[in-house]
Amino acid sequence: MTARPLPPIDDDTRAYWAGLARGELLLQHCRDCGHVQVYQRALCGRCLGARVEHRPASGRGRVYSFSTVHRAPSAEFKEDVPYTVVLVELVEGPRMISTLVDAPPETVRIGQAVEIVYDRVSPEITLPRFRRAGASMTS
Ligand SMILES: [Zn+2]
Repeated sequence: MTARPLPPIDDDTRAYWAGLARGELLLQHCRDCGHVQVYQRALCGRCLGARVEHRPASGRGRVYSFSTVHRAPSAEFKEDVPYTVVLVELVEGPRMISTLVDAPPETVRIGQAVEIVYDRVSPEITLPRFRRAGASMTS
């Protein structure tokens, strides 16, 4: 299998990736305005305050939108197609882009309940993916 490109880790995202590696999805909560954001930044995306802190999320949400990929974007993903890219609205509010596992594309529905799956792809990187909530455990 060709190695897939991995996301880079920097000072803003180090805590996020460390959380995923130990099985925790961390969201940033703004201590000034209460805004909750995913994808780590130095500042709050709403009020630009610097008092943001990480808190573990439930890992649960619903499919807000999705798109099934039939043509791999690059050679590294050829063995994965078709796969479904989902925009998940977390119960905490923010939306994040990921991919669905264990779900044939024709079965995916808007509003479907999903839960996070921690997919360790390297010692440093564990990717947050989602599966239909209540689906049987796989690893
Ligand atoms: Zn804020």
